[in-house]
Amino acid sequence: MRQQRHSFLLDRMLGKLCIKLRMLGMDAKLNPEGEAGRFLVNAMKEGRTAVTRARSQGDRPGPRPVVLSSSDTAGQIVELFAAIGEVPRFEPFTRCLECNELLVETPEEAAKGRIPPNVEKTFHRFHGCPACGRVYWEGSHFQAMTDEVKRIEAQLKKH
Ligand SMILES: [Zn+2]
Repeated sequence: MRQQRHSFLLDRMLGKLCIKLRMLGMDAKLNPEGEAGRFLVNAMKEGRTAVTRARSQGDRPGPRPVVLSSSDTAGQIVELFAAIGEVPRFEPFTRCLECNELLVETPEEAAKGRIPPNVEKTFHRFHGCPACGRVYWEGSHFQAMTDEVKRIEAQLKKH
């Protein structure tokens, strides 16, 4: 497996972007609650690119964060990768949306009891999060997300 080149620390106002980046397979963490003042230090310590919408963060000494101006997540993703100067290869649906862990294939037997009965009947391939135990399957939500990933990729190509 190729090593993930980009990892991000987002300030707490970017919760939606954080989920979206995880959906695309990117390593994305939210700055811990109550640590706003340590945002840039936390990013540096963990070797993550700091991402914020607060312009004032860009004026502080030390490593510069990426400051986004767009208010919608799709626009923010385009802005983020334009600022970094490259379009990464997305690996959608490889991370837990809740906790950023890489998902592992979960046998049907192990998924049983952790998924709704109608899903049990319809789906036979599952991925699970080793940290929180959440189980993912390729349902209607998955299809909607696939369409969204395509839209984001198309927008990035235009840039
Ligand atoms: Zn999880």
